[in-house]
Amino acid sequence: MTRLLFAPLIALSAFFSPSSASAHQSPQPASQPAPFHVLAFYTDQGEPDHIDFARQALPFFTELAKKHSFSFESTKRWDDLNPEKLKNIQLVLWLNDFPHTAEQRAAFENYMKHGGAWLGFHVSAYNDDSTHWPWFVDFLGGAVFFGNNWPPLPAKLVVDDRTHAVTRHLPATLTAPANEWYIWKPSPRLDKRVKVLLTLDPQNYPIGLKDVITGGDLPVVWTNTSYRMLYMNMGHGDKIFTSSEQNRLFEDAVAWLGGRK
Ligand code: ZN
Repeated sequence: MTRLLFAPLIALSAFFSPSSASAHQSPQPASQPAPFHVLAFYTDQGEPDHIDFARQALPFFTELAKKHSFSFESTKRWDDLNPEKLKNIQLVLWLNDFPHTAEQRAAFENYMKHGGAWLGFHVSAYNDDSTHWPWFVDFLGGAVFFGNNWPPLPAKLVVDDRTHAVTRHLPATLTAPANEWYIWKPSPRLDKRVKVLLTLDPQNYPIGLKDVITGGDLPVVWTNTSYRMLYMNMGHGDKIFTSSEQNRLFEDAVAWLGGRK
């Protein structure tokens, strides 16, 4: 078999290599991880606190891209959520806001079903009776928005699993900066595919003044293990990036989703 395969292999290497010299060179030093491309979607319309978060997230992830050698691109054009554009994207971020058309939704579904990665923040996972996107609710582990605290407040978070690549640099508990915390019904923890990574500590209850959360199991960061995805409830207002611990969570999330572990 070796002899039979020899001629086709020569032909293939001649086809893929512009010169015999480059055929002997490794394209990347072994220590350099493969580059990955991140595309962030956001909006400058709607709730100012959500826009503030996106405005601060763009430079944050631009800096991370330099540190971890990935490419970072951002757009307000949700029509860029299409098969052609996503072909070269390894990780999609939704910095608040979500798809608005059937075409955008279909492109995202197809992308996720074929190995794409997603990191969604805060209102990007919002869904209610009017959403009519059952695949997305299933993607989230069945979580449907039910309510929130108001005003935005800091909260103590419990790390459910500190062995996971996304949470391994976190302490057992941390205080997250002021955020609007969401109630999900049902809790995504009830879905067997879901792994919850951080949860709102019950010690916070009651939390809120105008709108008060009085109890319940409230996961704030989770992954549906059937996909390469993470949802994070953080993303309301201009305080989100003021915690080095929470920033580390964001950093490790992007590294994990981008395949850097
Ligand atoms: Zn909000």
